[in-house]
Amino acid sequence: MNNYNVVIAGAGQAGVQTAISLHQAGYTGSIALLSAEDTEPYERPPLSKSYLAGDDDLNAILFRTPGYWDESPVTLRTAARVVAVDAEAHTVTTSQGEAIGYGYLVWAAGGVARTLPVPGHDLRGVLSIRDLQDANELRSILGTAQRAVIIGGGYVGLEAAAAFRGRGIATTIIEAQDRLLARTTSPVISDFFAQVHRANGVDIILNGGVSEILGNHGHVTAVRLADRTQLEADLVIVGIGLVPNVDPIAGATSTTASSSTPTAEPIFPASSPSAMSPATRTSTPTGSRSGSSRCRTRSSRPSWSRTTSAERRGPTKWCRGSGPTSTTHASRQSASSPATTSSSCEGTLRSLASPWCTSEQARSSPSTA
Ligand SMILES: Cc1cc2nc3c(=O)[nH]c(=O)nc-3n(C[C@H](O)[C@H](O)[C@H](O)COP(=O)(O)OP(=O)(O)OC[C@H]3O[C@@H](n4cnc5c(N)ncnc54)[C@H](O)[C@@H]3O)c2cc1C
Repeated sequence: MNNYNVVIAGAGQAGVQTAISLHQAGYTGSIALLSAEDTEPYERPPLSKSYLAGDDDLNAILFRTPGYWDESPVTLRTAARVVAVDAEAHTVTTSQGEAIGYGYLVWAAGGVARTLPVPGHDLRGVLSIRDLQDANELRSILGTAQRAVIIGGGYVGLEAAAAFRGRGIATTIIEAQDRLLARTTSPVISDFFAQVHRANGVDIILNGGVSEILGNHGHVTAVRLADRTQLEADLVIVGIGLVPNVDPIAGATSTTASSSTPTAEPIFPASSPSAMSPATRTSTPTGSRSGSSRCRTRSSRPSWSRTTSAERRGPTKWCRGSGPTSTTHASRQSASSPATTSSSCEGTLRSLASPWCTSEQARSSPSTA
């Protein structure tokens, strides 16, 4: 059985950044990054933007350059979904049937797109945009789609609407609440985006409830609303949030609370003056669970960790939100690359049909000058 000091389940933004940050902070223990997907780790924001539009290929949206992980001290396992966690034995089991031991388990498995619990939700042509496979499927049918209904007026829904209108596809957004982006932004911003999208030819139905998705020969043909309105569609996007991927650890916690559970040593002991310098676990596989060594300091950061995606591609950042609490997508951040200010993003928000923007766009936007 392979053992690692740290096993990270999930190679999305959280999992990849955890591995990178551990090394950048000087951690020298062994790390395994287990990915359910069969590609090298990639960024999700472009899936509804440049990748969906066909402007980027997969290599352009990888967190690291192709093949990078082969040289990394982090062991990346693709197509290795964690299906079970035994917290008492400190092991995970992957979908390939392999048991892997860990000292620490980092659960960074994100979530899956929430499905709509109505008849017809599983018809062909009813898609979510959550991962590369979804985006590839959507790309493959965009050329022939004529009428799209987007269920959910959140970020993903608005992104999709902008992309569809760019291709001349008749597009309707159905939002259950009384405004777009209701969970994430203010009424003023909601109204702004509603106006922009309507001006761009998008029909927006607020306070709309979907009762059924209709199909013919297994393919979607229409969406029926609670008030019996029927909207023809050959493409339906469901963008109504996600459900956390927690089943394997939910099972683990219910069966493993035990006083004999082995505990891993602190990665950076709390007693140390700095997380950068104290002793930490060794690269000894966790099977032995013993020994420690000196952490590397930031100045001796390993060469493989010097090229974060932000450093590789410059200060591009995905921005979200419009107020003082705006966030910048962490995938484009690094210690050496400070985040885009929310104000520059806000300016760009005012000038785009799409609710997300990049700092390059922010800089080139007249409204931010
Ligand atoms: C289309 C789209 C556009 C977005 N645009 C923006 C944007 O512009 N700005 C912004 O701030 N945010 C954006 N987001 C949100 C952002 O992508 C997420 O916040 C981010 O991906 C969350 O990262 P994560 O690592 O927590 O989870 P995820 O990205 O979901 O990664 C989790 C990974 O774990 C894998 N996994 C799941 N279960 C297991 C298991 N049992 N074992 C092993 N691996 C597992 C999954 O396959 C996945 O690869 C967007 C999201 C989407 C879907």
